[in-house]
Order: sequence, then C-alpha cells, then structure tokens
Amino acid sequence: MRSGTVESEMNGMTNRIGGMVLAASLLLVAGCDNDNNAAIPAAAESATPTSSAAATESAEPTGIAETSMTELEALVEKYGDLGLTDVHNHDASGFQWNRTAKWERNRVARVVLFGDVSEPSAVRTDKAAWSAYRKDPERIVPYFSGFDLHDESSLDVVRDNLEKGYFGLGEIVAASTNSPVASKVAWKGFDPMDGYLPRIYELCAEYKAPILLHIDPLAGTPLIKLEEALDAYPDTIIIVGHINAYNSPDLVEALMKKHPNLYGDFFAGFTDLNPASEYALSDYVPVIKKFSDRFLLSTDSGYGLPSEEAAIESMYRMLDLLSDDPSVMKRVARDNYDAILRAQPATKTQLEAIKKLTFPEGGQPDLTHMSKLDAGTILIDAKVDLSESAEG
Ligand SMILES: [Zn+2]
Repeated sequence: MRSGTVESEMNGMTNRIGGMVLAASLLLVAGCDNDNNAAIPAAAESATPTSSAAATESAEPTGIAETSMTELEALVEKYGDLGLTDVHNHDASGFQWNRTAKWERNRVARVVLFGDVSEPSAVRTDKAAWSAYRKDPERIVPYFSGFDLHDESSLDVVRDNLEKGYFGLGEIVAASTNSPVASKVAWKGFDPMDGYLPRIYELCAEYKAPILLHIDPLAGTPLIKLEEALDAYPDTIIIVGHINAYNSPDLVEALMKKHPNLYGDFFAGFTDLNPASEYALSDYVPVIKKFSDRFLLSTDSGYGLPSEEAAIESMYRMLDLLSDDPSVMKRVARDNYDAILRAQPATKTQLEAIKKLTFPEGGQPDLTHMSKLDAGTILIDAKVDLSESAEG
C-alpha cells in the first residue's frame, strides 16, 4: 500500500519533470542531499549556479540574493529566541568563509555538521566537521560518514569516532536509486539492512547516538528494509533525512505511527521552495503536530534552493505555521534534538581523559552521569583533542 502510494507520486513527479526542462537536473536529485555539491562542486556549479549553497555563497558573498530578507528578518526577530537547530548540514565540505556569520545573523543556534557522504572523501570532511566543533562547541554537533559499511573495519571506525566524541552518524546513504550523486557513492548501502548496518545500529544504541539515513526512493525494498531495521533495533534512533522530500504526509504519518524509534528530518526548504514538491508546508502540519516529539528541522545546506539562507527562512516559516501551539513549535525548533544530544553519556575514553586533567581546588567535575556534551566541552576547554591523540 505505502509503496504504491510512493510509486504513484514518483510517477507524477516524473511527468512534472518532463515539463520542466531547465530544472530537470535538479529535480531528479530526488529527496536529496547536498552531496554532489560536496563531492563534485565544479559539476554542480556548471550544471546550475543556484543548485549549491557552497557555489551560491562563493559567487555571491551575501548568499541572500533571491531571499526576501525583509521576511526573513521579521521571522528571525519573532522566532530567533527558539534556539533553532539545523539537523542536517553539509557545510563541512568545501570552504565557506561566512558560514558562522550566516548562522549568527539568522540565529541558528545549533548545527549538525558533516560533509561528503558514504565515500572515501568523507573521511576528510568528517575531520573538518570535528575541527569546526572544536572551534565552536556551543553550536556545532559533528557527525561522520567516512566508513565502508560493507567492510568489517566500519565497526572500528564507528566505535572509535563515537568514543572520541562525535555525536552521530550521517549522512549515511542506506539506499539510493534516483539521486545522481548519492546513487553513485562508493560506500553506499543497497538497503537499510545491508552490509554491517545491523551491527552499526547496535553500536548506535550502545552509545545512544542517532544515525541519519539517506534513502531514496522511500519505497519498495529500501522501505521494507528500513521498517525491518526499525523493528529489529528499537533502541536505535534512526533519523530519516529529508523525510518530506518526495514522500507524502500520509506515508510519513504511517511510518511515524508504526515506529517509535523513527525521527523525521524535515527539510522545510524542499517543500516550501523546490518546484518538485507536490505539497505545501501546511500539508505536513497535522502529522508534525501528531508526532511533535519526533520531528526535527533541517536545511540540507540549501540543496536545490537559491541558498542555505533560503532554507533557513523555510524552517522559520514552518515554525510560524506551528506557532498556534508554542510547545509543539519549541519541540520541533530545538527541544527534540536537544534531548537526543543530552541523552548521550560521556564515553569511557572521554572520562579517562578528564580524570587525567588537573582542576582548580573544588573545581573537579562530577563524573557520575556526565553527558557526552559536557565531557566534550571540558576536553575542548582543556585543549585535549582525543581525535589527535588516538591517531598518534
Ligand atoms: Zn544531505
């Protein structure tokens, strides 16, 4: 039933794409990611100068050319205190000189940061996400995706990175057919139970670390296997990336209802601004209100949009639509992700490193029930980088 729904949507989408010659390459990215911007910036730029947040920003230092700043400024003024969290951001790929300014200006308080996905180049961008976190631990939440899920070594990478202090895995390509980039990455999975993914889910549960998956299309075998994973690993938080991209509110609702460990990364900019979306933001309001403790917001670094800033504006528009219920609005803006983050305990490696530090008289931190978040901050303050020491 559900895959039937998705398939008819996909067919509808294909028909629409046929009519939109200029946007075709963009639209085909199907529920995508910013990965091609990251992996092949030159191709992304030549294909369409507005398809990449990175490209837009380097070409257009303000990055706001096509965004109504008046409306965005008004939204920021109204909702800037919410502590907006972007749970899916690829800005660790490439050089973006003004990314912090963009977040400051628009009061994006927290950013889940990674770069390339499920391919060897991600090993480097994972490190870039880590460095960004070391410089701005209040805002940046580093994730990683540089491992080959078909190789047993992936288990060591996952454990080591989680021990050092990374807060999650992502964006992991668990299945991709339609995205011209995600479908080609060297380390992609063929379905959400492929390779070592099942054992990786176990590790995620052990560390209470979420895993952010890219799955396109969310239909057929990938969907069946996602549901299998959700059922088999009930203690693992699985976040489906851009869950609203090419997926109907009905499909999203059916999945959320069935699987309490499923979280939805809502890429508001896709629904709000990408012509490939068949729905409006308001169409998703009922399902978000119904499962308001498991929806999160993201920009996907503005993938397929004029800029990342446009995607931030769409997140605020979504919050505006939820503002008649302030508790729902707050959960979706910040609290749901904050709870996931704070639930992660300090790791053995972090605690051992903290025990070696000297603190001023009476300034010893209480190590019982310490969170990974607090442990990470203490280590950064003490200039101890577990990533460096572990690599010798
Ligand atoms: Zn992405």
